[in-house]
Amino acid sequence: MSETIGIVGGGIAGVGAAWSLHRAGYQVELFEKGPALGGNAKTFRWPLKDGGHAESPLLVVAWPQMYYHNYELLLKELGVGITTLPISYFVQTPDGHFCQDGQTAIQARFAHEFRRWEKLVAFVAKVNGFFLPKKRHDSLYHFSYFNPLNFIPLYWLARAFGISSDFWNTIFVPIHCASFITTSMRGVPAVILPLLESIVPLEEPGRMGTWVGAPRQVFDRMTASFSDHVHTSHEVTSVKRREGRFVIEDKEGRSYTVDKVVFACDAASVLRSLESPSWLQRALLGNAEYVDDVDPTFSRFVVHSDTTVLPEPHRERILSDFNTYSEIDESGSLECTFVISAQNPSTKDEGVPMLVTFNSTKPLSEVQKRIELPHPTHTMSFRNLIIMTMVRFLQGKGGIYYCGTFTTPEGGHDLSFMSGLVAAKAVGAPYPLPRDNPHAVADFNQMQRIMLRSGARETIRPSISAKDAPAQGATRRAGV
Ligand SMILES: Cc1cc2nc3c(=O)[nH]c(=O)nc-3n(C[C@H](O)[C@H](O)[C@H](O)COP(=O)(O)OP(=O)(O)OC[C@H]3O[C@@H](n4cnc5c(N)ncnc54)[C@H](O)[C@@H]3O)c2cc1C
Repeated sequence: MSETIGIVGGGIAGVGAAWSLHRAGYQVELFEKGPALGGNAKTFRWPLKDGGHAESPLLVVAWPQMYYHNYELLLKELGVGITTLPISYFVQTPDGHFCQDGQTAIQARFAHEFRRWEKLVAFVAKVNGFFLPKKRHDSLYHFSYFNPLNFIPLYWLARAFGISSDFWNTIFVPIHCASFITTSMRGVPAVILPLLESIVPLEEPGRMGTWVGAPRQVFDRMTASFSDHVHTSHEVTSVKRREGRFVIEDKEGRSYTVDKVVFACDAASVLRSLESPSWLQRALLGNAEYVDDVDPTFSRFVVHSDTTVLPEPHRERILSDFNTYSEIDESGSLECTFVISAQNPSTKDEGVPMLVTFNSTKPLSEVQKRIELPHPTHTMSFRNLIIMTMVRFLQGKGGIYYCGTFTTPEGGHDLSFMSGLVAAKAVGAPYPLPRDNPHAVADFNQMQRIMLRSGARETIRPSISAKDAPAQGATRRAGV
């Protein structure tokens, strides 16, 4: 009889691990605290004026196609349609507004600093290229451990390039708060800058991939063949070793026996469930830092249709042309609204404003739901990078495996999905996707190098070479 694997956490990392393990013939039991699978990739049902409903994504809304090779392969495998959408930002400050589709007074004021920013991007790209000259494709996964820019905060380097903290607070933070899910970004390492610019350039709108429809279909299709073994509304509270197996218990006192466990939730939840954690488990899991540990801005949000959250003179334009609206007040506090209905192709024409506001400071009407989001993602910091590289010493020990954001270099859906596949591989499931995309295979191999010790990984080979592979996704300058 095949082994039974318990997976704790029903975001893309946990569902990715369960999907891969099930395909490889393992029995799986998947536990999710919330009422639905998806984790951060939530789907929301909006009531329409005609009495019907429309589904949209809420938080995870899009992805940079030139980097998400494996996630796009997954969608192809599942038959989920992909489309593209423009990504553009509108920022309101006490001194006026700026947006990425025009020249405003604020953009003119910072014109010199934008040019310095370009020089900074070119400088970091050059340093990165020196430390990683053999990299064959632009990637979220490939970096050099020896690059000093891993250790130098972007903010410090920007200041050294003559970029003011005013530029940082007025331009960089309001735009990239939605990339890092925090306004506290002074610890972000400089090494990431060219990658960041290639995905969300400060001065111009970009394009990203998104689902035709909402993310729910991805999770439904991935779990369709083992839906009887998906346990939503099951918050795991303890994982105990008993007679060579594990007993998983949830908050309601229900218990399940499995042979191995894959944790795919946040590090703090893992630590809380372990019966007698080792010093290394305590040191790594107890020190992983999440954005809400340092900044509560994105730890709760309101789902609503109240357009008064947008400034009156620009309201119609924002509602039709921008994905993200950030507003900074006199005290420097930032409110951020995702304008889901503006450009999400599936819901654009439904006639209902679909808004998600973080750090809401205004009284809101037409509220659909208020949601707490504990530990939405980890912080991009040197400390977390160290933890990420050390988790390999825990992987598989005593039959326990780990995946999810704290095991990846950045917060991103492809990265978490990949971490789930690598955890499944460490248990014994082979790479589950077609090998005819050498970029996807290279990313998987690199993720194995990040997550597993050398004895535990097996380099897989693509079925065709990189030079024979068709170009993937919408590419723009990457310069990483
Ligand atoms: C606001 C926001 C916007 C984002 N936008 C994007 C985007 O547009 N594109 C993109 O690529 N990435 C985006 N991300 C990042 C993306 O969400 C993550 O990289 C990825 O989805 C995380 O997946 P995960 O499975 O690792 O974690 P999660 O999605 O956090 O899933 C972890 C799951 O574990 C469950 N869990 C926790 N404790 C327990 C327990 N004790 N028992 C059972 N279950 C438990 C949680 O309920 C949760 O469902 C965004 C993140 C946030 C917060």
